[in-house]
Amino acid sequence: MRTGTTQIHSSSNSSLYTRVSREALIGSATLGVVFVAGYYIGKRRSTFSMDIFKSHSGAKDNPLMQYVLNHSMREHPALKKLRLRTMDDSWNFIMVAAEQSQLMANLARLIKAKKAIEIGVYTGYNTLSIALVLPDDGKMVACDIKDEYPNIGKPFWKEAGVENKIDLRIQPALETLVDLLANGEAETFDFVFIDADKANYDSYYEKSLQLVRKGGIIAIDNVLWSGKVVNPASDDIDTQAIDKLNKKLYRDVRINISMLTVGDGLTLAFKL
Ligand code: CA
Repeated sequence: MRTGTTQIHSSSNSSLYTRVSREALIGSATLGVVFVAGYYIGKRRSTFSMDIFKSHSGAKDNPLMQYVLNHSMREHPALKKLRLRTMDDSWNFIMVAAEQSQLMANLARLIKAKKAIEIGVYTGYNTLSIALVLPDDGKMVACDIKDEYPNIGKPFWKEAGVENKIDLRIQPALETLVDLLANGEAETFDFVFIDADKANYDSYYEKSLQLVRKGGIIAIDNVLWSGKVVNPASDDIDTQAIDKLNKKLYRDVRINISMLTVGDGLTLAFKL
């Protein structure tokens, strides 16, 4: 009797499973066609674009992106001014996308972040975005090798009244991370954004993992590298470094991850 009931349930579960599977399969096939079409369109359009889904460059004129911005961006006035100022710079395409920055600030606020690190500042748009959600006694350690670009952002940090929260360190970021560890600050940070030279990404990640508390977030930028990670060229050291880290993070039991297609690809690593 028991066995019979089990068999009936099992049979009904099995047909339900089969039905769902077929739907999933049809969905996958459709997605596959869309992906392949997108891949070839993308290939034809450009082989060198530093960004894919960024509002200020790659997807600038995309009506859907404009819709996303019009219905979600709540940019602080100082952030907006800094973004527009950054657009005057010839390297503006490397700026973090505003919508990605807002997502990271929302996450930092969600986990009640008090201490953050940014590895790679450029003009400091994201530095300001995160500093704005830190409490008054919060701290953002901002790492860069030159102060030329961060100096562009400084007046806007001041205008927003958060310059006291930003501790800009001009030296190789790895040295700053080692300094923080030597200073007894392991597991005291809540949020880290890695967005600097790709060859050092793995080292930045390992040091960051030591510095972040359990439940903290490490956000890693450019993990899709304009799509080049799909098939890294044998002489492309940057793409290889990113792809290697992506593969490592996928298997890393010290974290949970999400890989997002926002901007040029963003992996969120949640420390367990
Ligand atoms: Ca970047």
